[in-house]
Amino acid sequence: MSQLDPDRRTFLMATACAALLPAAALADPADKYAASPWRKVSDAEWKKKLSPEAYDVLRHEGTERPGTSPLLNEHRKGTFACAGCGLALFKSDWKFDSGTGWPSFYTEIPGALAKKSDHGLPFEERTEYHCAQCLGHQGHVFKDGPRPTGLRYCNDGVALKFVPA
Ligand SMILES: [Zn+2]
Repeated sequence: MSQLDPDRRTFLMATACAALLPAAALADPADKYAASPWRKVSDAEWKKKLSPEAYDVLRHEGTERPGTSPLLNEHRKGTFACAGCGLALFKSDWKFDSGTGWPSFYTEIPGALAKKSDHGLPFEERTEYHCAQCLGHQGHVFKDGPRPTGLRYCNDGVALKFVPA
């Protein structure tokens, strides 16, 4: 046989096309903050920038003591932003009193948070979430929230700052 069979030819074409893909196309297209300068802040720089409590939560996934956040009593209209980089994460309209002692929300500003599954508790599945821009840890999302989403974003208050409208 002098000719390539069709399957073999298709395979060669596919290989050639794959080799031409630029490296950038292989990066996660969902990560729109991948090139953000906030991603380059070192741990030592964060330590200088943040209060000890905020540093522990945002950069080392610590958890604040429940009932301690002044934001529990924040009922003005506005936005809750990341205490690390200032990215807006939640609107005051979505805040509710969950009775847990942590500021709670039933939804997020689209694209503001990134999530990963977290099996830190033995019998309960929860999802850890962090600021999509600086990757600072914010809290966990549970599926026992109110309508309309049924979600409960349980957020460390110290990881947030309130910006009045
Ligand atoms: Zn942030």
